[in-house]
This record gives sequence, structure tokens and C-alpha cells, in this order.
Amino acid sequence: MVLPFTHEPFTDFTKKENRKAFEDALEQVKGEFGKDYNLVIGGERIATKKKNQSINPSNKEQVIGTVSQADTELVEKAFQSAKEAFKTWSQWDPKVRAEILFRAAAIVRRRKHEFSATMVYEAGKPWGQADADTAEGIDFMEYYGRQMIELSEGKEINDRPGENNEYIYQPTGVGVTIPPWNFAFAIVCGTTIAPIVAGNTVLQKPAEDTPIIAAKLVEVLEEAGLPKGVLNFVPGDPSEIGDYLVDHPTTKFVNFTGSRATGTRIYEKAAKVQEGQKHLKHVVVEMGGKDTIIVDKDSDLDLAADSIVNSAFGFQGQKCSACSRAVIHEDVYDEVLEKSIELTKKLSVGDPVNDTFMGPVINQKQFDKITGYIDIGKEEGELKFGGESESSKGYFIHPTIFADLDSKAKIMQEEIFGPVVGFTKAKDFDHMLDIANDTDYGLTGAVISNNREHLNRARKEFNVGNLYFNRGCTAAIVGYHPFGGFKMSGTDAKAGGPDYLQNFLQAKTVSEQL
Ligand code: NAD
Repeated sequence: MVLPFTHEPFTDFTKKENRKAFEDALEQVKGEFGKDYNLVIGGERIATKKKNQSINPSNKEQVIGTVSQADTELVEKAFQSAKEAFKTWSQWDPKVRAEILFRAAAIVRRRKHEFSATMVYEAGKPWGQADADTAEGIDFMEYYGRQMIELSEGKEINDRPGENNEYIYQPTGVGVTIPPWNFAFAIVCGTTIAPIVAGNTVLQKPAEDTPIIAAKLVEVLEEAGLPKGVLNFVPGDPSEIGDYLVDHPTTKFVNFTGSRATGTRIYEKAAKVQEGQKHLKHVVVEMGGKDTIIVDKDSDLDLAADSIVNSAFGFQGQKCSACSRAVIHEDVYDEVLEKSIELTKKLSVGDPVNDTFMGPVINQKQFDKITGYIDIGKEEGELKFGGESESSKGYFIHPTIFADLDSKAKIMQEEIFGPVVGFTKAKDFDHMLDIANDTDYGLTGAVISNNREHLNRARKEFNVGNLYFNRGCTAAIVGYHPFGGFKMSGTDAKAGGPDYLQNFLQAKTVSEQL
């Protein structure tokens, strides 16, 4: 019997023995720097001439590892291997497929600090953030395994005299998984193993900035007993192989998480039926956010400031769910702003190896983009705190607060994906909801309020996929807060929720006349 799902606990880093274990893991991972990582196609490890280096964003000189790069020919080989593997994998008992995930979860649990330490170096994740990322990956394995067991029974529908009916789920075929770098383990893991446990075979193209933690997932799944060809690891330059993966007539689904620009492009391209293609592609695109915390007049102002600061600056604001807009009732605006500034002053910024609250942003491109928005913010509002940045060794940007912004300001409308939050004043609750909903995105949002009527209105009128009351707008947990956005935030696939696996399954009705 499989025990009910419970989420993986976070490591308590106030305990000396846990700190020591994590420091040991950081040393161990450092000892692995410079290794080569190959493609994995049909179980075969393939080294290519073309390589990509994975760099530590805290220290640009430090090469974490070197990764072979697939070209279209090798991607074609991966499609063929996935097609072949689908013939048998799709026939496996779903319970046995789930057991592979449970075993993989146990392996990652044993190597937990090693995985988190890898993300400290490769993604610039502070300890607690890296630990939560690894825990989320484990949760996805445990949760989707259980979901698949449940769905293997199909769903109940009605029979009638003389007729027996069945409603069952079948795997779809070969698909493509394209994750982002920010939840470097959790998303790469969740978006890959969900279609796999559903009986599909996958080509996974990891993000350019974090391919090594993705390669470690491949290792773990192999060790857990995943047959050859079920997961094909094809890192590569997206401008070279991205379209090939999406356009391929074999592709049955694309499971993408990343920016709006890439997501909408994939959505459009996947809609075109290619020569030889006899199906429509199912596309999951989970994209960006412009997430708002509303602070009502009648509310706990300390909780409000704490929620804004943690949601805005945790992992340097590089979460799709990060708070980048604080909409505050005019009567409490000054106080919440002041409290938020005081809390932000206490945050440490630096190399996360040293257990800082904030680390670097991921790369030069993001550094330039975020500092560009800070310059725009200085024109659009009042810089109240931060604004400094430094990129000689790594890509460091200090937590930055702008106040007195018009809700239409660029930095209140466009996704920055960095440690920048804008404050704006509202005259009443209607006004707050109007501002909150006035963006293209609809991913997360939070309301800090003691007014039950206002909370009830927000439940219906705050147009986001993940709405939180009296807490921050980040830190969704698998099985507790299924995740996905409305509007231009994507297809609302609700990762970590009871409807997610159906994205990679075909429901079939079988009816027999008796
Ligand atoms: P990105 O769009 O630049 O890259 C995402 C992935 O797409 C990468 O693997 C990249 O190599 C690949 N890619 C790029 N161009 C491609 C192409 N033409 N064809 C196929 N693949 C291509 O995004 P990013 O910078 O890695 O991630 C940050 C973004 O992700 C932010 O907008 C953030 O909000 C979003 N995000 C959303 C969620 C969510 O659940 N909604 C979660 C995490 C991140």
C-alpha cells in the first residue's frame, strides 16, 4: 500500500548538524567542477564537439561543468529512440511506472544536500531556496506517482441496463519538455516526470544556464530503473534545435515553462499541422507573471510588510510568482512602505555559498534587463531603497523599492524578473482590485486584510490562478497549492495538482452493449 502524500520537510538550517552537512555538500559539489556532461539518447551517452559551459553566476570565472550540445541530427535520433521506447513503456502497468518515481524520490532524498548545493553554484540559489527547490522536485515525484495510480483506475461514469461503460486514460506518445532555469530542479523534474509516469516518452531540452542539475535528474531516473529511451536528454542551443523539437510531426505534446515571448511562439508554432502529422499537439505553456500584493486598510501591517519583502526579494525576485507590485490603501500606505524598507535593510546580498539571504541574478542578459528597469523606475517613481548593482565578479543587484508609481508605469506592467518592487496607493478596495487586475498577466496574487467581505470579493474578482490570503504570493507547495496562471501567464496547467497528469493522457470511453 502506498502511504498518503505528505510534502518533503524543509531543512532546518538553525541546527548545527544540518549546516555542517550542507557545507560538506558544497565542498563535495565543488570537487566535481569542470566535469563533462553528455547527451543521453536511448540510454547511450553521446559527447559532441559543440559544448556549452555552465557558469556560476556569483563568480563568472568558475565553470561548473561542460555540456555537450545536440544538433538537429541528434534530436532526430532522440525522436526515433523515444518512438521505439513508447511501444513498451506505454504498456507498463502504471503502478510499476509510479514505483520508479518513488525510488527516484528516495535517491534524491538521500542526495538532497548535493542537489541543493549544485543549485547554490549553478543557479545562485541561497541555501533555503535551494533546499525548497530540491524538496519540491521530490514532492513532484511522490505526488504524480500517486496521481497516476489513482488515474489508472479511470473515472466512474454511468452504466445503464444493457450497457456497460468505462472511462479510462491512455498515454499520448512522444513529447518535448522545455523548462526554465529558475526552479532549476523542481520544474525540470516536474515537467519531465509527469508525462513519463503517464506512460509517454520524452525529449528534454534543459535551460542553457542550469543543465547540470538537469543531468543529475537523468542519472537518478536511470538508477531508479527507467528504461532506455523513455527520457532522452538533449541540451542544445534553442535557436538551433528549439523549432525542430516543437515542429516535429512526431511531437504529441510540448510541456513548456518559461517566458511569455518563448511560450507564445511555441504555442503558435505547435498549432501548425506538419506534413505526415495526424494529430493536434497538446501544448502546456506556463509563462511569466506581474504579481500583486494588496494591503487593505484593516490589516496586519507587519504581516503585510513581511509578505511583500519576502515575496519580492526571495531568490532575488526571480520567481514567476514574485511580488513586483504592492497596492496599498492610502490610509496605511506610508506605514507599510516604511516597515518594508526597514525589513529590506536587514537583507544580506552576496555569494550564496556564505548563506546570504540574496545571491546573484542568473546571467549578464538578466542583469542588463533588470538594471535597465531600475533606470526606468527612477524616471517613473521615487527610488526609496536599493538600486545598486555590481557585476565585476558576479551579477549582484540589491533589493530595490520604488514608491509613488502610477499603476500604468512600465515597471508596474512589465515582468522584470529581478529584485524590484513598486508601491502604489489606492483609495478603496474597488480601486485596489482594479489596479491588481490591470496587467496582462494573471499568475499569483495576495490580499492582506481582516475584512471578510473584501476577502470574499477577491476570491471571485482577483483574476489570478493562485490567490493567497494573509500570506505572501510565492512558495506554492505540491499537492497543497496547485500552480498555474490565467491570462498571459499561460495555460493554467496547475502543476502539482489533481488535474495536471491529464495534460499528458488521452481519455477514452469504452461502451459495450450487453
Ligand atoms: P525562456 O523563455 O528564455 O526559456 C525557457 C526555456 O525555453 C529554456 O529551456 C530555453 O532554452 C527555451 N527556449 C528558448 N527559446 C526557444 C525556442 N525558440 N524554442 C524552444 N525553446 C526555446 O525563459 P527563462 O528565462 O528560462 O525563464 C524565465 C521565465 O519563466 C519568466 O518569465 C518566468 O516568469 C517564467 N516562469 C514561469 C513559471 C510558471 O509556472 N508560470 C515558472 C517558472 C518560470
